[in-house]
Amino acid sequence: MLDYLFTPEQLALRDEAREFTNWVPREMILDMDAEKLHFPREYLKEAGKRNLLGIRLPKEYGGRGLGWVDDVMVAEEIGVASYSLACLWGVGADIVCEAIGLFGSEELKQAVVVPLLKGDIYAAECLTEPRGGSDFFGAATTARKDGGDWIINGQKRFIVGAEGADWFLVYAATDPSAPPHKRISCFMVPRDAGVETKYIYNLMGVRGGGAGRVIFNDVRVPERYVLNGINGGFEVFKKMMIPERLGTAAMTIGSVRPAIEIATRYTSMRKAFGTQIMNFQAVGFKVADSVILIDACRSLIYTTARAADSPGVHPNRLRRMVSASKKFVTEKCWDIANNCMQVMGGIGYTSVYPLERIVRDIRLSMIWVGSNEVMQLIVQNEWYKEYQKTFSKENVRDVEKDALGADDPEEKIFE
Ligand SMILES: Cc1cc2nc3c(=O)[nH]c(=O)nc-3n(C[C@H](O)[C@H](O)[C@H](O)COP(=O)(O)OP(=O)(O)OC[C@H]3O[C@@H](n4cnc5c(N)ncnc54)[C@H](O)[C@@H]3O)c2cc1C
Repeated sequence: MLDYLFTPEQLALRDEAREFTNWVPREMILDMDAEKLHFPREYLKEAGKRNLLGIRLPKEYGGRGLGWVDDVMVAEEIGVASYSLACLWGVGADIVCEAIGLFGSEELKQAVVVPLLKGDIYAAECLTEPRGGSDFFGAATTARKDGGDWIINGQKRFIVGAEGADWFLVYAATDPSAPPHKRISCFMVPRDAGVETKYIYNLMGVRGGGAGRVIFNDVRVPERYVLNGINGGFEVFKKMMIPERLGTAAMTIGSVRPAIEIATRYTSMRKAFGTQIMNFQAVGFKVADSVILIDACRSLIYTTARAADSPGVHPNRLRRMVSASKKFVTEKCWDIANNCMQVMGGIGYTSVYPLERIVRDIRLSMIWVGSNEVMQLIVQNEWYKEYQKTFSKENVRDVEKDALGADDPEEKIFE
């Protein structure tokens, strides 16, 4: 819909992503949703074959060296086939490989990034624990030093792709007595170091993507598998917020897009009281609102992607924009999905149309990669800091003074 914003090369890339999404076998989507398939390795293999994994990573490691605008465009198309597939597409290549690309050794790049971008292996991101996900610093998983190695103990839960993962990116406390920002390290852990996984969740949606519990019982890893050094995990986490949240927002737009298309087709054909139901404002306005909302979501996400591609944007402002995009887009996509289901009447609530799956799937978007309440918290924190730092420097009119009683000290009371 925003074609006029993109270069011919970007549009060609989008078409490549569309072709890949058209390749996805219908049975794969249905089998995943029915939990007959727990980890679609074939999907990742095909994505790798088409060079559509980790497109922002450097070419020498199998990426395409592209930017965020390109990534967001592809993520939207990937989301169209299935949210569960999109989660897998994003976590291994866009999050874990980015972390290794930025903070890992050449050995890890060769061992993980290169085969993962070919679709040969998969890596999961393990942050959330049974005792809490929002409180990153409260991680109860620990790692203790033993000679040149670290021994990891603890559990992580709800980990996308755990079932099929060959590697795990794991945050663990390495200096529990240190201040929060300095107590956690980020390890790359191969499955064959003794990691155990359990596929136990009976999820409401995003099924078949291997989400499971991950257990570390005295799992030994060499110190060279640490990203950004011991106690440097917070820096990795902060950087990973960008792919987590921007990627989630973009793929959620993709997953909800078919709902609008289906609802538009249905309401143009379905008749009640002798006319197509699109002619009732109560119906047509819901579709119109959905189109307005998806355009607003896209506008926000591409503006944020452009900010992420621009070196001049301050990291705190980017953090605010990315968090705002994740919250706004996922909530508006949820509204869109519900609007579309509503105008379909009872049939929208059945498995005759995929709307019920879309609704179940995208509900996750407001919870994972940081809940929307946490996004709001970040926007609140960053906005107050940003405003105090920049307002006086931006040479903008202070409209507060343009009020009749602006200088009344008796009324401007703050304490
Ligand atoms: C299907 C699925 C896949 C997932 N995939 C992964 C994955 O691959 N890797 C991974 O690490 N995690 C994953 N998660 C975990 C997900 O990111 C967490 O569930 C999420 O961050 C919330 O953490 P929690 O469940 O521990 O809830 P809690 O942190 O216990 O939060 C519960 C409620 O309290 C609110 N809350 C908590 N703290 C605050 C606060 N300071 N201010 C306001 N409200 C607050 C939250 O917003 C939420 O509404 C996945 C989850 C699901 C369901």
